[in-house]
Amino acid sequence: MTTPTRRPPPFAMSETPPAMAHSRRSWLRLMAGAGMGAAGLALVPEVRVFAQQVQEFIEGPPVPDVAPVQLSPHVWMVYAKDGFPTAENQGLMASVLFVVTQKGVLVFDSGASLQIGQMAIRMIKTVTPKPVIAVFNSHYHGDHWLGNHAFVEAFGKDLPIHALAHTQEQIQGAEGNLWRSLMERWTNQATLGTKVFAPNQVVQHGQVLDYGDVQVKLHHYGTAHTPSDLCLEVVQDRLTYVGDIAMDNRIANIDDGSYVGTFKYYEALAGAAGEQLWVPGHGKASKDLLKRYGDFLAGIYEPCLKAVKDGEPMETARAAVLKDPRVASRAGTMDGFASNIGKYVSLAYLEAEKEAF
Ligand SMILES: [Zn+2]
Repeated sequence: MTTPTRRPPPFAMSETPPAMAHSRRSWLRLMAGAGMGAAGLALVPEVRVFAQQVQEFIEGPPVPDVAPVQLSPHVWMVYAKDGFPTAENQGLMASVLFVVTQKGVLVFDSGASLQIGQMAIRMIKTVTPKPVIAVFNSHYHGDHWLGNHAFVEAFGKDLPIHALAHTQEQIQGAEGNLWRSLMERWTNQATLGTKVFAPNQVVQHGQVLDYGDVQVKLHHYGTAHTPSDLCLEVVQDRLTYVGDIAMDNRIANIDDGSYVGTFKYYEALAGAAGEQLWVPGHGKASKDLLKRYGDFLAGIYEPCLKAVKDGEPMETARAAVLKDPRVASRAGTMDGFASNIGKYVSLAYLEAEKEAF
């Protein structure tokens, strides 16, 4: 067995490599071809250090620019047109919002990767020379915070990243790395190089943060999409960012959430904020977003509750849901409907069983 000599990485260090994952595999194949299995390689300290250095250079390609759209006097959106992550969209599936204030720029959700965060920063610079002074993470699903890395890299580790306590705990815990690796897998490693930067500032419902000409009011009313969904009201603009508690034309993951909790959340939020331009993390903003998505969710939940009360099985509930006009009218055009509706009916039925008990 010969000791492998130190080689340059299999790509020029100054340029962004087109397919890092491929390069890594090639390198490993090369090493294996030299008569060394991965286990053998790991035992050679020099190789271990070298492998680590290569890993640090392994970064997915930049995400193409998406010109920001102005939603209100202070608020802009870098819009994600796709609802789900693919190799082609490089994980661009959740929008990034930014608010230009007297004191600097606020970012509401930072995207699903280092590269998406970097693209958002380029887009912010087309609107204002002001620095980003705070990031907010609406909840712990990685498509909304993995981009924190880019903002910490560009604006320093002391940049406040705000979230509710439970969101911070989840990202610091298993959810953080789980989402990082899931996103790499879903995008065929386009997000490689992204590191977990958890929120460093815990905020609470009812706080009003002052940025000179703009105040941001924080809302949280219990479990909706997750147990810790933070909604952000830009008071002067009558605009509220709602993260994933409501979606435009995409069916939301409700695995960690609650139907009944979502209805209660909408009522409390709309009661507190009044008429708003509601901005979701996925899809287009509208003034009737909560009403429209609430009707859709009720079209799933209410037939399930009725079936439970009538002692009917889940199959009966499923048929009633698919026939409900509030659901049927959206089925043809909603992203992810066919693949997810079965699961959402099951979750609604289980929740109805608990509620009816
Ligand atoms: Zn989510």
